[in-house]
Amino acid sequence: MGTPDARPLSGGPRTTDVVVIGAGQAGLSAAYHLRRSGFEPGRDFVVLDHAPAPGGAWQFRWPTLTYAKVHGMHALPGMELTGADPERPSSEVIGEYFTRYEETFDLRVRRPVDVRAVREGAGGRLTVETSAGDWSARAVISATGTWDRPFWPRHPGQETFRGRQLHTAQYPGPEEFAGQRVVVVGGGTSGVQHLLEIAPYAAETTWVTRREPAFREGPFDESDGRAAVALVDERVRRGLPPQSVVSVTGLPVTEAVRRGREDGVLNRLPMFDRITPDGVAWDDGRRIDADVILWATGFRASVAHLAPLRLREPGGGIRVENTRAVRDRRVHLVGYGPSASTIGANRAGRAAVREIRQLLAGRPALVG
Ligand SMILES: Cc1cc2nc3c(=O)[nH]c(=O)nc-3n(C[C@H](O)[C@H](O)[C@H](O)COP(=O)(O)OP(=O)(O)OC[C@H]3O[C@@H](n4cnc5c(N)ncnc54)[C@H](O)[C@@H]3O)c2cc1C
Repeated sequence: MGTPDARPLSGGPRTTDVVVIGAGQAGLSAAYHLRRSGFEPGRDFVVLDHAPAPGGAWQFRWPTLTYAKVHGMHALPGMELTGADPERPSSEVIGEYFTRYEETFDLRVRRPVDVRAVREGAGGRLTVETSAGDWSARAVISATGTWDRPFWPRHPGQETFRGRQLHTAQYPGPEEFAGQRVVVVGGGTSGVQHLLEIAPYAAETTWVTRREPAFREGPFDESDGRAAVALVDERVRRGLPPQSVVSVTGLPVTEAVRRGREDGVLNRLPMFDRITPDGVAWDDGRRIDADVILWATGFRASVAHLAPLRLREPGGGIRVENTRAVRDRRVHLVGYGPSASTIGANRAGRAAVREIRQLLAGRPALVG
């Protein structure tokens, strides 16, 4: 350790040991473990984030996603989140918590700094190209989440729709849909939450999903969690694009969900066959008129900045062992695939730092 952060006199890239890209749950966890292992912030590692404020993706989530509605939010390592008012928006609660966290552990996150590309650099180092100049690093921890890559499936006739189309990433809360006919597409937690919120305001809601939604009665214990993570992990090890962990855990039947199922808000229709100027239609002749189509169709991993390193497998995903990219052991992905939950991100941050210490000490990669 111990390469200085100062910009060299030649005006070349600043040098450091580790660049952490992203300051959400995963990036902050990694930064915490770097600090604990004796890495000096600003000198031995830097944390870069392109968002305007602390909070990771939480800062962009809709105001009606209160802290009470967040399920299983795990605290960051080393500092509990206590005494939060469950009725306040998660964006505020978690934004404030992350702010305190960054200050307490002196993590010195630089923002807004957009990482545009990570490339092979000189002398076995990686060059991290950013909106604030380049860094040269011995290892990179990519913790960029999924929020910046909303997934919009394509359907015939989509461009002809005269109403409004938006994605969960732009969901403003339910009031804007007062008196409107809204089609919500997607069988995940976000789709369910949107429907339950919008139904009391809207003239009509319709729920459309590709597969029969998997409601889960009863408690979700640790072994269920481990089984869900193992499923995603298996895909990532095979080089396939990760599914979200939530997509394999099923939809918990809360009191609100039970009521939604009883009063018909959560009666689901199969996927429509096309979009028309006035709504959606099925080949059997059924049609539903709509003012809004809300795509609650999830997100994909935000990894475009890693493209120059050619880490992708033919299956479309980046193969990862623990958190290490199989094709380049200098690159770790945390909050990716099996670690894309708040608890997974915590563990991944620790694991990545452990392996990077081995790498920088010149020892072979850990197996497992
Ligand atoms: C609506 C919704 C609700 C959720 N609820 C829960 C829940 O209740 N419990 C749970 O465990 N999980 C939940 N999740 C999953 C949750 O998002 C993750 O658990 C966790 O917050 C992700 O942390 P992260 O650090 O991986 O990503 P993020 O929080 O997305 O952080 C990534 C950071 O990287 C930055 N970044 C991205 N690209 C770049 C770039 N090129 N250059 C610089 N910076 C960049 C972003 O600005 C951001 O700050 C939810 C997800 C969604 C979409």
